[in-house]
Amino acid sequence: MSVQAWLALPVSAVLLVANPATASDTSGASGHAEDASPAASLTAREKLFLDSVSASRIGDYIEELTARPTFPGSSYSPEVAAKTAAMFRAWGWNTRVETYEIPFPRPAERAVELLSAVPIAARLEEPSVPGDPYSEQDDDYLEPYFIYGPDGDVTAPAIYVNFGLRADYAQLERLGQSVAGKIVVIRSGGMWRGGKVELAAEHGAVGVLIYSDPKEDGYFRGDTYPEGGWRSADGVQRGSILYGKYPGDPLTPGVAAVRGAARLDRSDPASTIARIPAMPISYGDAQPILAAMTGAVAPIAWRGSLPITYRSGPTADPVHLKIRYDWKRITIRNIVAELRGTDYAAEKVVRGNHRDGWIFGAHDPHSGHAAMLEEARVLGKFYRDGWRPKRTIVYASWDAEEQGVIGSTEFVEQHLADLTRSAVAYINTDGVSPGALQAYGAASLADFVNQLAQLVKDPQSGVPVAERVTLANRMSLYDAPASGGTGTSAKTAAAVDGEGRILLAAPGYFSDHHSFVSHAGVATLNLGFGGAESNLGAYHTRYDDFAWFKRFGDRDFKYGRASAQINGLAVMRLADAGLLPMDFSATAVSVRSEFAALKALLAQERGEIIRQNELVTADAYRILSDEAQPRVAPSLREVPELDLARLEAGVGAVEAAAARFAVRRSSVNPARLSGTRVAKVNRALIAVERAYLRPDGLPGRRFYRNELFSPGRLWDTVPFPAIGDQLLDGQWGAARAQVEPAVRTLEAIAARIDDAATALD
Ligand SMILES: [Zn+2]
Repeated sequence: MSVQAWLALPVSAVLLVANPATASDTSGASGHAEDASPAASLTAREKLFLDSVSASRIGDYIEELTARPTFPGSSYSPEVAAKTAAMFRAWGWNTRVETYEIPFPRPAERAVELLSAVPIAARLEEPSVPGDPYSEQDDDYLEPYFIYGPDGDVTAPAIYVNFGLRADYAQLERLGQSVAGKIVVIRSGGMWRGGKVELAAEHGAVGVLIYSDPKEDGYFRGDTYPEGGWRSADGVQRGSILYGKYPGDPLTPGVAAVRGAARLDRSDPASTIARIPAMPISYGDAQPILAAMTGAVAPIAWRGSLPITYRSGPTADPVHLKIRYDWKRITIRNIVAELRGTDYAAEKVVRGNHRDGWIFGAHDPHSGHAAMLEEARVLGKFYRDGWRPKRTIVYASWDAEEQGVIGSTEFVEQHLADLTRSAVAYINTDGVSPGALQAYGAASLADFVNQLAQLVKDPQSGVPVAERVTLANRMSLYDAPASGGTGTSAKTAAAVDGEGRILLAAPGYFSDHHSFVSHAGVATLNLGFGGAESNLGAYHTRYDDFAWFKRFGDRDFKYGRASAQINGLAVMRLADAGLLPMDFSATAVSVRSEFAALKALLAQERGEIIRQNELVTADAYRILSDEAQPRVAPSLREVPELDLARLEAGVGAVEAAAARFAVRRSSVNPARLSGTRVAKVNRALIAVERAYLRPDGLPGRRFYRNELFSPGRLWDTVPFPAIGDQLLDGQWGAARAQVEPAVRTLEAIAARIDDAATALD
């Protein structure tokens, strides 16, 4: 995954509201008009599917495909692609390989050193580890680095800015410090690392070092590798640092990076290449630099788990940061495989998982990729045995996800017209960990997901995965009061409401569903497993290999099997439904919840200005400033107004339309609808999701068109990003100008829901 989902949770979660039609009239609710099987139970074929997916096969795929490094441009990568394509073909899928050409800079020169009296050079390496033969493979080892930054050679004092979020910079300024002209040291977590580098550049920093504090995924969490699975002092989180104006290939915005495509120069400011040099480092390498910070002790929330006194800095001695890249263009390969449908062959259910790891990628992504392969094996067998789904099923094995969801984005760009016409849903997965179901996605599929979660069993306990989620929530409410204070609604992807119904979290942007939702307006689902107890200590290190995975990951591949079961079941049901299972009760809740999050953000930004103005007026910064803790007052700011009444009326329109649809839907028996009528309703149902798109895209970021579910400009989660981003940047006039276009989007969503209700008549 490209963002740690467990640290970058979505703004809102959606209540799964029971669909009155399925609650009272189960006949045909799944759309199986001919067999009239209730959606709440399994058909014989579905049961056979669940029984057929094999955990040991999943383990075999992971072991074979991660025998050597799998990153794009590695020598094994074309072989992994060929093996994957061969599997799909052997299983009866119509399979093609789609290639793109992207820049893939690799580090040619790297240096980080603290220029103290005796200079301390950072190690910048991940040594091999006893008992892990993979960690001894030096061929194709990709050194720790960030991809898509500029070359740089800077020497400057270093300064610590906690997670490097907007609020951290504001706090640093009030402590009398500035990052201008300095190298900032930031810890991993809380936000997309490319957003951190961009914010550092905006504040005048000349370089960035991002390290993994043991508090997040090191010894604070458990024993470190190889004794335990958590990040050791040498483990480095590699990653992409592209700036989120658009995802995908940094040099071909909006178009597929096929051979001959027009390309930006990499120095073009229109590209997403970061503006200042940056390097990821281990906490072993970060510790001497952090220990050299002078000045006041850092605020409590800024302190990690290293055995040092955390200070904000700066360092008395300068730090030298040097990175030089060797820019090469390489070929990436998506494997795209189809089983053609019958009645509605032009409609497509798309399923995907990426295939590239940062090095080996046994957990991220092959634990999820292998589970997807196992679904494809069984579905292919069904097809060879004569099963014909109503809709066309498309399975995709993506390349270059880690560099910025590139393979999937180039696919969406290349096939946008077809996806707009034909895509019913896109179902994504990424790495699988043992734990509770984690459900993100389109609210219109919330009810559908709740049904699936009743039908698939938790491997460890044998209860439905829905029950494990419910109990895990009750237990955690008992164990530990929710950490909170953000003022938004439920934030976890494995939460439940008071009646034990699973909450479907907003889609998020952390993996290959990114462009499907934000650019193409396709309903997405991410149904995975994991949770607070998941060990992610090998994330983006060379140690995320099969040896690590067999000890600290999904050891017996049972959660991989559960992933194959629930995702395969979702594919089968969506592909074989007569009437599609979309429902808009949860959509109304979701839109209301995004509005509430925007209102909370507005109140928070205004409240912060008011509170700071009061402190400045009371002369608090002068009075409370002393030698141990110097303080600098911010300037007084005007308290801005933003009227959201029109936007709230738009939310009301969506709620009213959803209520009308629910009434209509509950009075219709799908089994009695003619084929033409079903097709017409389905087209209307699919059109609802497309109505989330602004035709011209969000301001300054045309790629992003989804009014509610596009990332913020830093790839953070921001409610109504066209408005919310401007609030976060203090651009109140610009925020005001974005309200009316957002109202029009909500009105369009309401109108399309009404169309669907009318089509049912
Ligand atoms: Zn991944």
